[in-house]
Amino acid sequence: MVHLEHFSGHPLDYITEFHISAKIHIDICPHCYSRQRLHLHGVYHRHVIWYEDVFSIPVQRHYCIHCGKTVSILPSFCHPGFQLALPFLLELLWAFFNRIPLTDALAHQHRRFIFKRFLLCMNRLIEYFRICHDPLLVFPDFWHKKAIKLLEMVYSVGKPHIFAKRFYDHFKKGFMAH
Ligand SMILES: [Zn+2]
Repeated sequence: MVHLEHFSGHPLDYITEFHISAKIHIDICPHCYSRQRLHLHGVYHRHVIWYEDVFSIPVQRHYCIHCGKTVSILPSFCHPGFQLALPFLLELLWAFFNRIPLTDALAHQHRRFIFKRFLLCMNRLIEYFRICHDPLLVFPDFWHKKAIKLLEMVYSVGKPHIFAKRFYDHFKKGFMAH
């Protein structure tokens, strides 16, 4: 399981601060609800594609002695299951639905996957905004306009990782998860 946490907004700052800042404590196991604090159980690395750069970032992993399951603490500029960093991911979506040509090196196929996935996730996003913002929110019928309105709402929350963490904490999955 993944837990999103706000750290520095850029992978390089996150990497620099990783070894000097205090580690996160998890006092209740999200799997079995044991109240015994989880043990810090090593660090693994994952890739983050940050526009033109790729970073390998360290990730804390915590272990529950009662159920044997683990929790990874991901910085909120990551989307669980995606290597694309959150701001970059959103920028690609925004450019696609607004028909802004992209010059980055991301493979065409990779982009298509992202756009299709977003379309599949729109209903959950609508549910989120109706629950957390306004139950009477109306969205356009046409998928393309609906996508743009949803992205505008994501950006209106402030920095994208604020929205992404709130969404994750609410649904226990990322806004682009299956
Ligand atoms: Zn547990």
